Amino acid sequence: MLFKHILLTYFVLISLNINAQFFDNEEYYFNISDTPIRTKKLINNTDLLNSYLFQYNLKKHNIIYIIPVKFWIIKNKKKTIGPSELKKFIQYLNYYYSINNTGIRFSLRPDYQYINKEKLLNLRYYLQAPFQSLKIKSKACINVIIVNKLVKKKLFKSKKKKYAGTYNPISHGIIISGNISTSTLSHEIGHYLGLKHPHRGWKYKWFQEPVSRTRLIPGTHIKMCERRGDRLCDTPAEPNLTKYTDNKCNYTGWNVKDKYGETYKPDTHNIMSYTYNRECRNKFTKQQIALMLYTLSKNKYSKYWKIQNNKNQKFFPDAFEPDNHQETATEIFFNTPQIHSFHKTFTGRKKIEIPDTTDWLFFELKTQKPQTIIIKFPEINNLFPEIKISVFKGSNLITEKKLTDKSYLKELKIIKAIPGEYFIKIRQIVETERENFYKISLFK
Ligand SMILES: [Zn+2]
Repeated sequence: MLFKHILLTYFVLISLNINAQFFDNEEYYFNISDTPIRTKKLINNTDLLNSYLFQYNLKKHNIIYIIPVKFWIIKNKKKTIGPSELKKFIQYLNYYYSINNTGIRFSLRPDYQYINKEKLLNLRYYLQAPFQSLKIKSKACINVIIVNKLVKKKLFKSKKKKYAGTYNPISHGIIISGNISTSTLSHEIGHYLGLKHPHRGWKYKWFQEPVSRTRLIPGTHIKMCERRGDRLCDTPAEPNLTKYTDNKCNYTGWNVKDKYGETYKPDTHNIMSYTYNRECRNKFTKQQIALMLYTLSKNKYSKYWKIQNNKNQKFFPDAFEPDNHQETATEIFFNTPQIHSFHKTFTGRKKIEIPDTTDWLFFELKTQKPQTIIIKFPEINNLFPEIKISVFKGSNLITEKKLTDKSYLKELKIIKAIPGEYFIKIRQIVETERENFYKISLFK
């Protein structure tokens, strides 16, 4: 009992006094003892960062890492978060990371879990959040706990504040509340990948990042932008933008100056900023991307995520994932082939991998008269997996067929199909190392 009490006091102290070191969340608390000088060699040298990124020569759709995200959902009787909500989270993540050519993609770990503990639904930010974040986690993935509300209640103050998300640098876990902007999870994962807020320390003159990109730390040759704020020089210095941007993403802090008297010129679209309208955020800078890739290269699990790794190549999820349920089926169009894969997620534990052997697709048949539909599965490089195909209209099974590399006609017909929405379930019957891909196309 005494021990529990001491532990509790300890966590309260941590939360109140050295908050900045433990949390990177939607509000920043700066701490005097957190000197901005202690950094690794690479991450405070602009030239090194730029050349680090150059080596990858990132273009559209180039992918270097695919990182599994595991969700832990605190069960809510009023609002269920199911596969289609999780798919949306992954799609938004992949949208923001792909439009910025980061080379990073995310996949949904199939073993997401529900937690039946009502008392965690409205999670207390200071006491419960760090405990739960340390407790609820798996290896070799990014852990995201979804709660109903993340509530911050300061001691001796009755006012409560709600938060959208938080990242805990000790557990490396993320907690988000159910109702968040489309960019919030990308922001929190930005923290996981080593990024800080561009406005970090702006309120404190001693630590403030100057607007000037060339100003040096007195008596050194080190640029201040490499050591202050987010320690990156291609993200402009900025105040906390919550107060200084409007709903349309315009900067409104015309009279706000740094301690040298220079007016701020922030970017109101950076994903790591705090714009008043969080939907304004859609950009990562080159140096932010370089720092994320550098952080990943140091992550002990990155060998499971790196696409160049030979073993991984056989088991990577396709771009249509997640599609393991009827409600998360991917749309396929006539005469437009798609290539899918059956994949595996490495769990960081030896010989324990999570197979994902099911894909759901759907198509819409717009026609007056019933007509025959052919679903074809052309071979890729003479390889063909053993699969079972089931076609549904709504929840009714219409037709079913097994196909192997020995099947003469690798196709399935729906005779006299009537207009409407059809679902195709494709399941791998025998798991193999070689035949993990298939091509599918639809014809009328
Ligand atoms: Zn943040």
